[in-house]
Amino acid sequence: MAKQIESALVRCMDYRLTSRVNTWMEEQGIMDMCDIISLAGASQAVVVDVDSPDARCLLRQIRLAKELHGIQTLYLMHHTDCGAYGGHGAFENETQEQEKHIADMHKAKKLIEEQFDTLSVVCVLAVMTSDTDIDFVEQE
Ligand SMILES: [Zn+2]
Repeated sequence: MAKQIESALVRCMDYRLTSRVNTWMEEQGIMDMCDIISLAGASQAVVVDVDSPDARCLLRQIRLAKELHGIQTLYLMHHTDCGAYGGHGAFENETQEQEKHIADMHKAKKLIEEQFDTLSVVCVLAVMTSDTDIDFVEQE
C-alpha cells in the first residue's frame, strides 16, 4: 500500500517546464511527496468541455490520487507560451495571455472543487520569460 501524501500537481506535458518545476517542487517541500499529472494545456480540457475524454481522464487521475494517496491539495499549474493555447502568438499581449490562463485556472478550480469536496485547489501560473527561465506566480 502506498503511503499517504499531501498533494498532487496538474501541469502541462511541455518539456520546457520540467527542470524548473522540479526546483519549484523542492522549494515547496513537496518533491517525492506529490503525484504529477501531465496533460497538454493542464486543465484546459476541463474548462472547454468537462465531459470530453481529456477532461474525464484528468478528473480520473485526480480521483485516483485522492483515493490511493489521500491528497488534500491540488496544485493546478498553467504556463504562458502553452502550445495547447496557441503559444504567445495567439494573444495580443502578455497581459491578455496571463489573464486567459488565470481565468481558465479559476474555472477549473471551481469545477474540480465541486467534484472533490475535501480537496483544496491552489492555482499557480508559470510565466515563461524564456525557454529556461520561469517565474511561478501563485494566484489568489
Ligand atoms: Zn503547455
